[in-house]
Amino acid sequence: MRFLFAFCFLVCGLAQQGGAPPPAPAAKQDKIAMRQQIADMKVKAFEMQTQIELLEKQLHDVEEAEANQPLAVNAKQAPAKVRCSGHTKDGKRCTRMADPGSRFCWQHKSHR
Ligand SMILES: [Zn+2]
Repeated sequence: MRFLFAFCFLVCGLAQQGGAPPPAPAAKQDKIAMRQQIADMKVKAFEMQTQIELLEKQLHDVEEAEANQPLAVNAKQAPAKVRCSGHTKDGKRCTRMADPGSRFCWQHKSHR
């Protein structure tokens, strides 16, 4: 509402100036113009603040997506040559290689 009012005020002022120059004193005109500018800038500042918050949120989302992506890409590029984290019956570390994307071999997968 405030924006609409300010906009209307501005357009009306411009239309008036375009026609006959108003006989109002210069100082008064300046004050009105300054108030218009201030109101206009406040509206713009509010809009920019909203845009900044929106952009920050979008940036945060993109950064979060990027933070999650490299792991998936790396997992694809370098298929896990990881040793199984499971243990054999006599307590020793399993010597098999883990399945890609898993920390366990085929045998220990089900014992998780
Ligand atoms: Zn194993």
